Amino acid sequence: MYKAIPIISHWINGRAVEVPLDKTGPVYNPATGEEIARVPRGGETEVEAAVVAASKAYPAWRDTPLIARSAIFFAFRELCWKNREEMAKLITRDHGKTYPDALGEVVRGLETVEYACGLPVHMAGMNTPNVSTSIDVRTLRQPLGVTAGITPFNFPVMVPMWIYPIALMTGNTFIWKPSSHTPGATQMQAELWKQAGLPDGVFNIVYGGREAVNAILDSPGIQAVQFVGSTAVGKMVHERGTKAGKRVGCYMGAKNAMVVLPDADMELAADSAVAAGYGSAGERCMAQSLVIAVGDVGDRLLPLMKERIAKLKIGPGIEPGMDMGPIYSAEHRETIIKWIDKGVEEGAKLVADGRPFKHPTSPKGFFLGVTLFDNVTPKMSIYTEEIFGPVLGMVRVKTFDDALALINEHQYGNGTAIFTTDGGAARRFELEVDVPMIGINVPIPVPAGYLSFGGTRSSAFADVQMRGEDSIRFFTKQKEVTVRWPKPGKQGPLSLVFPGNK
Ligand code: NAD
Repeated sequence: MYKAIPIISHWINGRAVEVPLDKTGPVYNPATGEEIARVPRGGETEVEAAVVAASKAYPAWRDTPLIARSAIFFAFRELCWKNREEMAKLITRDHGKTYPDALGEVVRGLETVEYACGLPVHMAGMNTPNVSTSIDVRTLRQPLGVTAGITPFNFPVMVPMWIYPIALMTGNTFIWKPSSHTPGATQMQAELWKQAGLPDGVFNIVYGGREAVNAILDSPGIQAVQFVGSTAVGKMVHERGTKAGKRVGCYMGAKNAMVVLPDADMELAADSAVAAGYGSAGERCMAQSLVIAVGDVGDRLLPLMKERIAKLKIGPGIEPGMDMGPIYSAEHRETIIKWIDKGVEEGAKLVADGRPFKHPTSPKGFFLGVTLFDNVTPKMSIYTEEIFGPVLGMVRVKTFDDALALINEHQYGNGTAIFTTDGGAARRFELEVDVPMIGINVPIPVPAGYLSFGGTRSSAFADVQMRGEDSIRFFTKQKEVTVRWPKPGKQGPLSLVFPGNK
């Protein structure tokens, strides 16, 4: 029955590791609802094989001269760039997002690869001469060994590219446990690393779910894990991984809110709310799923948003001109519908209802229309919980202070934005909001790939943020070397006193 359907392989020690059909699960094209591939369900055996390969490759990779490592990054960047359209098509096929959106994902992911090309500079330590008489201190940054990344379905290229370039550039080897929903572009990344000249065993992929993740968290051979995904899974990953003595950073769920002040440019705010709420079918951790309308903003903004919603084109992401593709899975589509039902039960006002939407020529695709609620209140579960779909809720408040308090009291703290023409209000927002990624008249403030990306409260369990300098710290251990080169015959007398810095 499955003969014509390709079976994806794990990638261990620089080659595809095939699996029998009974150890695979289905991959669907969400735009058609058809099964298009089978993806392996790996577990302890595959993770341990990857740990063996990565451990074996580690000493040589760690000792590879920086400029030689950097040359491989340049080659990988060029190959990804050359193949970006193919990569984006695979993202659209497996995930459902529109092709231009998928292309944007590849380009934004490459920013972190480009940052890693400069690794000889990033790996520089510090040298502090004369901390005491004739004593200098050197700071070394050294890799940890075998490291791992566990990533979500929604950005199969960009999010892993926020993790593995830094792990690899710092001299670690890497095991990637990707989402099983979006394997096309995943596999391509492994093949491009091989073509770029990365030695076998430095970069490995093991597919699977809970069993593979647990094996990674429990393996004594893995030193550090970065996880990106939902808060429920991230909490488990953090607890289990740290209990096993690993360094763990988890970047998780979100419920982002954009504040619109009465002095804002309402046309821009309406464009931004609709784009950030429904782009990629709301399946972005930086989607704006709440609009906090201050004062009379609700009455002015809502009609502008409705106008825009009425014009949205929903269909297969590969077709030109589409604004929104399908939901990534049939199950998730059902979950989103239940959230909409719940919002209605809780008393929010349904302004646009995405539930009845049916695509005329792709009736088996996992399509859903866009939903807009008005009069959402902080007591409703559609306010407190992440829905991760094309569902946007408007909350009406009286003052700027009310809006700020709502954001700071929410269980999630990932991204936020303010729309205003008042520089003073924007400045106060920037200083007082307890959320790390902030947009000022920018609805999806994902910082450039060489800057950090993090979260507060239930959006991140991590000591440092992802990417940039913080990730270099995460993926390295620091050593301080205290050095003296005594002049012959000039040592002081023997002393048992704790050395002071004089
Ligand atoms: P998910 O938590 O279901 O899956 C993430 C990873 O964990 C996947 O590799 C998956 O295979 C694995 N996994 C799933 N269930 C597991 C279990 N029970 N035990 C062990 N491992 C398990 O997340 P998702 O649905 O793939 O992605 C959407 C979520 O990711 C949203 O919550 C979104 O906000 C979040 N996200 C966060 C960021 C960020 O940077 N903060 C970025 C993108 C996505």
